[in-house]
Amino acid sequence: MRLMRRTIQKAGVKIFDRSPALELLADFSGVGGAIGVNLDTGEDWIVKAKSVVIATGGCAFLSNALGCNVLTGDGYLMAVEAGADLSGMEFSNAYGFSTDFSSCTKNLLYHWATFYNEDGSIIEKRDKRSLSKILQVNPIYAKLDKATEDIKVAMRYAQPNFF
Ligand SMILES: Cc1cc2nc3c(=O)[nH]c(=O)nc-3n(C[C@H](O)[C@H](O)[C@H](O)COP(=O)(O)OP(=O)(O)OC[C@H]3O[C@@H](n4cnc5c(N)ncnc54)[C@H](O)[C@@H]3O)c2cc1C
Repeated sequence: MRLMRRTIQKAGVKIFDRSPALELLADFSGVGGAIGVNLDTGEDWIVKAKSVVIATGGCAFLSNALGCNVLTGDGYLMAVEAGADLSGMEFSNAYGFSTDFSSCTKNLLYHWATFYNEDGSIIEKRDKRSLSKILQVNPIYAKLDKATEDIKVAMRYAQPNFF
């Protein structure tokens, strides 16, 4: 991040920290800038531009998933308010499992898991749809007992926040 900041500052870009964009400046001929607010001073800012790139990420801020607090969907809202049509939004509806004690939704490590019900019985159907149905009513327990010792070491190294 520091390298990116230095690089773009060297190129003459002015960075507005803690200053969310709130609205695109748009009229019948297109978008010509944006306005927002500096959260520290309370002052509004306005930038006029020949073109505007929205790069405000996705929309997942209520998911409680790791790293998603900043994904407010602001860019989508601003675009729609400026007259844009959104397409393909139905394809962005992906859910991952998370452990009870963490907000980490990376699911690769379950590849090496045996899944159990609360009473200790093994859950045979391990596809996401079947597991999701159970999770709607009961917790699922996972034991990462299919991993070799090498993989176990790699797991903790690659994804420490999973454990
Ligand atoms: C936990 C986690 C792990 C991931 N791991 C990987 C991985 O290993 N490999 C991989 O390829 N991808 C990974 N991803 C996905 C990757 O992080 C995203 O696809 C990528 O960051 C999206 O980039 P982006 O620039 O579109 O948006 P973001 O990186 O989300 O950036 C959007 C920025 O816009 C800012 N913003 C929001 N609203 C406003 C506003 N109104 N005004 C101004 N700024 C605003 C936000 O604060 C944020 O800084 C991971 C994502 C998560 C959540």
